Amino acid sequence: MAAATGYRAEEEYDYLFKVVLIGDSGVGKSNLLSRFARDEFSLETRSTIGVEFATKTVRVDDKLVKAQIWDTAGQERYRAITSAYYRGAVGALVVYDVTRRITFDNAERWLRELRDHTDANIVVMLVGNKADLRHLRAVPAEDARAFAEAHGTFSMETSALEATNVEGAFTEVLAQIYRVVSRNAL
Ligand code: GDP
Repeated sequence: MAAATGYRAEEEYDYLFKVVLIGDSGVGKSNLLSRFARDEFSLETRSTIGVEFATKTVRVDDKLVKAQIWDTAGQERYRAITSAYYRGAVGALVVYDVTRRITFDNAERWLRELRDHTDANIVVMLVGNKADLRHLRAVPAEDARAFAEAHGTFSMETSALEATNVEGAFTEVLAQIYRVVSRNAL
């Protein structure tokens, strides 16, 4: 009936894409996810350990794309991300903190781990978070661009605190996945 009247049930979608968040502890992965999925931000670093995910449905072209976004929720502190975390992922956000150089330097290792566990056609975005902390910046945007270019991926800076580019980063990843999937490459 819903189709006949032109309405679509809330749970209806054309595609379901699994996207994983990876990167050092404290870079803002959980807050990027809560900002995107629920428009919430927290000053607390969450102490619970365990994988969590949230979903959000967005429109890409004329399709409804449901994103299932996984957050390590602290597992990375113990280098204990399991292969189940990566299984079936078609997109990833490799997150660093623009105020902590080491988190950017570690992005290379995260990218390698990702490549070891996922399909070669996975869509990857390098995300420099905490861009609101302008006076504390330790990673020039140019370095991120060069890194992304060298690794065949793309980059964006975000602020989960100020809600800058968060929606943009996730929807860009989803749109790119949709492009790859519609070419039947994933
Ligand atoms: P995770 O360990 O990567 O999941 O990082 P969290 O999301 O728990 O964030 C770690 C800390 O950074 C928390 O205190 C957050 O409030 C803070 N944080 C996260 N995103 C931002 C941001 O965009 N700007 C600022 N200034 N702080 C942020």
